[in-house]
Amino acid sequence: MLIKKIKEAARLSPLSIVSIPASLLFFGLLCQFTLAQGTRTAMSYREQNNRTVQPTAPGPATVQIQLHQSIPMPRPGSLPRTLPPGAVQTSRPYTCLLVDEHGQSISPAPSAVVRGEGQTFLLGADCLYMAAGNLPQPELGGTLILKSFPKPAFSQTPKTQGALTIPVHEFVNLLYCPLRHSVFVLDKSGDIFEFDPVKQSWAILRANLPSGGSPDPEYIDFCLSPSAKQTSLNQLNLLDPERNQIWKLTLGKSGNISPIAKKSFAEVMPWRVRKGDPSVAESIALSYDSLFYVLRNFGQSGQLGLIRPQTEMTVQQGRLPIKGIGPIRPTRMVSQPGLPLYIVERENNRVLAVNKNNGQAVPFLFGANSNLRGLTPDNQGFWIIDGNKLFYRKVIEPDNLVQAAKPPTRSIDPRLKRLHLPIVGINLPRHAGVYPGARRLYRYGVHEGMDFFDGYGGARVYMGTPAVAAGDGIVVRADADFKDMNLPTFNRVMSDCAREHRTSDKNEDLFRGCQVWIDHGDHLVTRYAHLNKINGKIKVGQTVKHGDLIGFVGVSGTGQNLPGRAKYPHLHFEIWLDGKYLGYGLTPAETVGIFENIFGTK
Ligand SMILES: [Zn+2]
Repeated sequence: MLIKKIKEAARLSPLSIVSIPASLLFFGLLCQFTLAQGTRTAMSYREQNNRTVQPTAPGPATVQIQLHQSIPMPRPGSLPRTLPPGAVQTSRPYTCLLVDEHGQSISPAPSAVVRGEGQTFLLGADCLYMAAGNLPQPELGGTLILKSFPKPAFSQTPKTQGALTIPVHEFVNLLYCPLRHSVFVLDKSGDIFEFDPVKQSWAILRANLPSGGSPDPEYIDFCLSPSAKQTSLNQLNLLDPERNQIWKLTLGKSGNISPIAKKSFAEVMPWRVRKGDPSVAESIALSYDSLFYVLRNFGQSGQLGLIRPQTEMTVQQGRLPIKGIGPIRPTRMVSQPGLPLYIVERENNRVLAVNKNNGQAVPFLFGANSNLRGLTPDNQGFWIIDGNKLFYRKVIEPDNLVQAAKPPTRSIDPRLKRLHLPIVGINLPRHAGVYPGARRLYRYGVHEGMDFFDGYGGARVYMGTPAVAAGDGIVVRADADFKDMNLPTFNRVMSDCAREHRTSDKNEDLFRGCQVWIDHGDHLVTRYAHLNKINGKIKVGQTVKHGDLIGFVGVSGTGQNLPGRAKYPHLHFEIWLDGKYLGYGLTPAETVGIFENIFGTK
């Protein structure tokens, strides 16, 4: 295997605007990071403890998580169980309409769904939905009335009614915790929140903090498993492709996380792999059923890896090839103990049910204009979100393999088809951590653009590389007389971020440095950031064509222009559609899927 030396680059400094993925270049290697306390971080990579595992049979019986307990839950009184007059909905078999309390279609459409103790919860980027009743009988179909609970407000004044002391970033994933009778919600900055369905109130389960070591953790999926120490405890497992690790957090039946665990996770399950083995780097989803199932993806090559913990610090790992289907484009994986692994392929309008023992997959096809997101399984099949509906499929009635072999690619917004990449000859980088939506924990924020570094995407990127207009449009911002932050300003901005646990819009703008913005019409805007300087001929109000030179790659806004700092030039490129960055409300894998559809997969 070709192993490239990775630059210590941006990852070395907590001040840098990105973390470059070790994972991209180091399949099969454990990336070990050490922290030179108080200064910069250093790291080394080495192969460790090569172990193999038999990749199929589940391990000895362990305590399983009961996700469908029949304990009745108190029903919140404020939720209507029936629709108001006039809000008549037509029921169709295997279809469940999602409506609000007034009978109107739920908007925005939810991204994920989970059930627990007879209740159904759905997630949007900015709210949690709780259903008033049960999902309908699949054969009958029906309607689910949802009440929405917006993201809690943020106030740093203690005990402000209904507000949390840290801000909530975009919601990205949820699970139900039967032990605590609550819903855990993960946001894109890696904070975990807890929603109590009875009190209908929010709390912070764990505020994310830089971990020590580099890069910072990036939690993109989570699952519960029994605690190895005590069956009365649960373990929350967090998938971190940046660090190539699964993090564990032991939870009691109630109460807060211990102060130590709040600071940093005491328990870490490293992913120790042999050269050539799958790893959790570039992984997108995690599930538990006696052992851990990790879904890996990049470049349309989904693979499953299996992990069996041996001790706290050693694991066996193996591979479960997905059989019966060609290349896949996975965006999510959902499962429960005893059920198949359901893999959603949003861009292929397809769901696969994968046998956990032999990897055999069967396909379920959906229409060409579907918008497949999260799903929730039961013993006979699964409900999947498609826009503001749920569709049910029985697992014993899959679609024809021949038909499923060439699924229609999901169509994209036609406005995006006008765009090209902003560096001549470059391709999409092959690492989710440089895409929009990735966490930027050093500034407690979310990445809103895509980074083009040297060597990422097959073209040279250096100080002064020309950046070109991604499409025809009008220049709406051009920082001709840009002056970068001095040290006091930079330090003030960093301390703002730490104190507020976020990057304010004003500070985000400072971090982008010298910028050009182009308005392409129809609410489509592109931004080019960290420029060394702009093309002096570019003025606000001027019309540009695709490919016109607008500026030169640099490091402005990253802090790397300060004296004595190493420079890692890259272009930060944002696409804004209808007032949101492209990737808003999507998982990392869903975001990659859209970018591949716009710019190709070469
Ligand atoms: Zn960036």
